[in-house]
Amino acid sequence: MKTAWLEWNGHLFWAQHKRSVFEPRSAVSSLIEGIWRQKPGSAHFILRSRIYTDAPVTELCRGMVIVCAKRITGLSEIPMDVKERMLNSISATRVDVRSVDAFGAVLSHSRARNVRLESELVRAEENRSIECWLVAKEGRLLATAINSAGRNRTNHAEMNLLRWWWHKEARALPAGSRLITTLEPCPMCAGAIWECVESRDDFLVEYLHADPGRAVQRSVLRGSKLLRQCVNFGHPL
Ligand SMILES: [Zn+2]
Repeated sequence: MKTAWLEWNGHLFWAQHKRSVFEPRSAVSSLIEGIWRQKPGSAHFILRSRIYTDAPVTELCRGMVIVCAKRITGLSEIPMDVKERMLNSISATRVDVRSVDAFGAVLSHSRARNVRLESELVRAEENRSIECWLVAKEGRLLATAINSAGRNRTNHAEMNLLRWWWHKEARALPAGSRLITTLEPCPMCAGAIWECVESRDDFLVEYLHADPGRAVQRSVLRGSKLLRQCVNFGHPL
């Protein structure tokens, strides 16, 4: 079990998670996601504090901090005073996550099969929403999700899809499959995809629109051969 914590206004927020290989979640992501879930009104301020963790800082953690928090430091162990506060709940709150929170943003397969990709993209443009699809090697649609970050800033379309996939399958994104998205993945989603693919030599992330923001330049997918922009979105589902 690994721990992530931060201190804000004299109060300790902490989360624990035992990460499985290919799981799109870590102690750090649980802390950030959990604070957005439990303190939506003040999460933005709380997450300006430095996050500490005794877990390895993965690309998922790094990307999530870039997008949803500020700074992170990895420590070899949890300081005694912090441990004591956690154990005795002294000015300390344990935060948790609920997998189901994001599942409202996962579309049913039947609905997804009945719409044409092009019309979905037009709709996404109008609503300024973001949508993504996981497509198997042979072209079968495995999962699809939309952005629901209005409620929890970590609930980007790709994160929703990855969490749902893990919840349902508990395995990596299969080799040979593609993740197609309407907007280039941000550093958080890029980090999560990076950690969760079965093979980085046999996976493709295709996006329609480039993200003009500065944060995306720190995406682990930038410059990697996994990422490709589609000028013509001609993938029949
Ligand atoms: Zn994202």
